[in-house]
Amino acid sequence: MSEIKKESNIISKISNGMRTYIKDLAGKVGEEVTISGWVDVRRDHGKLIFIDLRDMSGKVQMVALPNHAEAHALANTVRPEWVVEVSGKINARPERMINKDEVNGAVEIEMLSMKVLNEASVPPFDVTSDGKEIGEDTRLKYRYLDLRRPRMQKNIRNRSKVMTLVRNILEKEGFTEIETPSLTIATAEGSRDFIVPSRIDPGNFYALPQSPQQYKQLLMSAGFEKYFQFARCFRDEDSRGDRQPEFTQMDLEMSFATEDDVMAVNEKTIIEVVQKLYPHKKIQQIPFPKIPYKEAMEKYGSDKPDIRTDKNDPNLLAFAWIVDFPMFEKGDDGKWTFTHNPFSGCKPECFDDLMNKTNIEKIMASQYDIALNGYEMGGGSVRNHRPDALKKVLEIMEYSEEKIEREYGHMLKALGSGTPPHGGIAWGLDRMIMILENEPNIREVIAFAKTGEGKDLMMNAPGKVSAEQLRDLRIEIKQKK
Ligand code: ASP
Repeated sequence: MSEIKKESNIISKISNGMRTYIKDLAGKVGEEVTISGWVDVRRDHGKLIFIDLRDMSGKVQMVALPNHAEAHALANTVRPEWVVEVSGKINARPERMINKDEVNGAVEIEMLSMKVLNEASVPPFDVTSDGKEIGEDTRLKYRYLDLRRPRMQKNIRNRSKVMTLVRNILEKEGFTEIETPSLTIATAEGSRDFIVPSRIDPGNFYALPQSPQQYKQLLMSAGFEKYFQFARCFRDEDSRGDRQPEFTQMDLEMSFATEDDVMAVNEKTIIEVVQKLYPHKKIQQIPFPKIPYKEAMEKYGSDKPDIRTDKNDPNLLAFAWIVDFPMFEKGDDGKWTFTHNPFSGCKPECFDDLMNKTNIEKIMASQYDIALNGYEMGGGSVRNHRPDALKKVLEIMEYSEEKIEREYGHMLKALGSGTPPHGGIAWGLDRMIMILENEPNIREVIAFAKTGEGKDLMMNAPGKVSAEQLRDLRIEIKQKK
């Protein structure tokens, strides 16, 4: 059979969906298959040329023999990261050549023909290593290459598995996944907002949500009762090592729920995720211990205590609920401010004090945080579902009537339109995956992460916009003096 004929065979095989994934080779010894992927490593032994080929499912060793002259000649020219399609025969490796540590360690592909689908310039770094030896800025600049390394492929694929499992569990529990807007107004979570100028309404601005807090509460007003979402949150904070200006929360809210109800459904979900997807990990204590805030501070000096009994065990997960937070603290200006967010409700036994604005320092919030191995993995609360109670919170913080109306008017109205009691939580998904994957920072589990200074080095964001765009927005940039 001529090589040309062979090539057209290959193409028709592909268009017939006949590509075989590398993970499926081991069971097909003796068969002829077509595989596609990236050249991982090439070892030239003169007569024999070995190429490790990599696709999304795994790696396999291929060998080009001189008797398949064309494939052999081509195998000589390909370089790491070139994209090729190979048709070949799956041979069992001789006993002494079997590599027990690899999925395809018992087989080898004898290359019959090869087609180069795309060449690759010499990569700026090795994509087959774990990448820890490479400067992070270079990795982030060439993220599309950095993501090819096995460690990053594993992190991002496992992140997807966690999200899928969480979705399935919550669906079964009766939750509905609902998307909420990214273009909104300030959401009062205690950070600075990213703002987006409106062209159609010049001089006015959207804010990107710091969290879907208000929308999820409004979904409770709307009668959905059980909501969740993987929500992108935006917070314009000064560069702080492991923070990202945008990050992902698993955000959830439920109606007619107590603190215990919210904690129970989350605890169950987290345990199932660990047991199904990270079976080699051990949860230190089930049910998760509940530690009052005061005790956490006294005993561990932290409201996200690391309570692991063995801090050197990379597979130990010590979850703890931190409860009984004070509702208010004094801000820098000497006024009362919320400790978490303005929508948290108080414990039932503190309700009279809230409504009478008495013993403010003693009012406890119905707030619960979840700590994991010394990190704050998430937090939430049972909310103020009565408008008069929310109003008291805002009054205690000395917000003016005008500010209350402008920033909270819609919430007060919604709460007064038959909003059931409700509460919820949000987990920092990036942080959770980081810990599950034993990574030192969240950038290792975010596909396109920004630097600690909030820059996207690959896309060059933030960047300049054209004079025309600015004119449309009626924005003028003042030069720094
Ligand atoms: N919105 C809160 C936050 O982002 C979480 C919650 O209370 O549900 O921290």
